[in-house]
Amino acid sequence: MPNSRFHRCLIVLGYLWASPNSLLALAIGLLLGGRFKMVDGVVEIHGKHIARILQRFPNPAAAITIGHVVMGQTLRMLDQTRRHERVHVQQYARWGPFFLPAYTLASGFLYAIGRDGYRDNPFEIEAFAVDDLR
Ligand SMILES: [Zn+2]
Repeated sequence: MPNSRFHRCLIVLGYLWASPNSLLALAIGLLLGGRFKMVDGVVEIHGKHIARILQRFPNPAAAITIGHVVMGQTLRMLDQTRRHERVHVQQYARWGPFFLPAYTLASGFLYAIGRDGYRDNPFEIEAFAVDDLR
């Protein structure tokens, strides 16, 4: 029952639960002079300073999700990564303030045992599985 009152309540709770992350991302977006756009209940931000930072990541990223905010290098990259990043939005709604520590611990553990902390991370496996359904 995706449109039930209970389901709508869960969606609101997910926004509240993830809000510390979302507020942090909105502040970063403002500080970096990003351009904001609302797409299906998610704030998408892009701009040259955001692009410069994402390109410098150890695994250069087209986009990154923080709460209900996705920051991308360009509008086109936001379009291309939307399905993948929406999985991360759902993960933030489930994990709230524990998402970043859980993601980081999973990556650290995987790197420590000689695996790929990005591609083998369960959060990424779930997101890439959606990409593979295309
Ligand atoms: Zn991802």
